[in-house]
Amino acid sequence: MLNQNFDTCASFHINNGAFFGRFVRLDKVLSDIFTHRAYSPTAAGILAESTALAALLSGIIKYDGLFTFQTKSDGPVGMIVVDVSSDGTIRASANYDEDRINAAKALRKTEALDEATPHFLGNGYLAFTVDQGSGTQIYQGVVDIRGKTLADCAIRYFQQSEQIETHLKLYLQKPAEGQTNWKAAGILLQKLPEKGGKIDNETDIVEAWNEAVIFLDSLRSDEVFNPELSSRDILHRLFHAHDLQTEIIRHYKFGCRCSRDKLQNILQAMKPEEIDSLAEKGKIVAECSFCGQKYSFEKGELLKQ
Ligand SMILES: [Zn+2]
Repeated sequence: MLNQNFDTCASFHINNGAFFGRFVRLDKVLSDIFTHRAYSPTAAGILAESTALAALLSGIIKYDGLFTFQTKSDGPVGMIVVDVSSDGTIRASANYDEDRINAAKALRKTEALDEATPHFLGNGYLAFTVDQGSGTQIYQGVVDIRGKTLADCAIRYFQQSEQIETHLKLYLQKPAEGQTNWKAAGILLQKLPEKGGKIDNETDIVEAWNEAVIFLDSLRSDEVFNPELSSRDILHRLFHAHDLQTEIIRHYKFGCRCSRDKLQNILQAMKPEEIDSLAEKGKIVAECSFCGQKYSFEKGELLKQ
């Protein structure tokens, strides 16, 4: 069932435009991701949270093309890739080792859902790139995976690399037992550096910022995932006294960009002995890690260039 209050990114400004933010809520997109490929509950939660962060980060960048969020690390969840295209199409995949996830679970000091991701990723980095097609420069940002939560990692990125005062929270809602309908959300607030000083003649910008952060921190999970509330309703509850302006700037849907041709190009770039090791009875069957689509090739097709 499609809930119009979800799978959107809302943009908002408060305090006379001094601070701006994004608010992302995901529902159907996540169900579609997990319908196309099955994940264990722990891996699904981590991928859902990463997808919300990817949507949130892509929401603050003006681009025409592809935003990619990626993690690479030495923990049980060794790699995550989330693509968000400028038209709102999302796909996501994670590589993980379920035995190692279970071993790492035994070492956890907390059951907190929002503190799971860095624990299972381990040591490594989180990167994002913006690709706007040939002839344009690829923008890239990288930060170490460090901190209690995935949101902490993202905040560190903004402090270190962009030097933009940023506050960010991620939310995750588990499905009922045996179900796969995860929900995830994120909210971000930024203080634009050039707006320093005072907002008007009286209001100190530091004071106003601290107050906005306290309001943002008061946002609870049960409000974020309340199906009856629109994003505008929720933002209004938080910031109605702060000269709030908001609009929906993006609608998200699941979609994969894989094709037989693309996969063939990747396989053809491999060494003949690697192709040999993948082949069974002269055939190679490869499955898209994002959407589960299977593609079958004759060995001969891949060896001739
Ligand atoms: Zn695919």
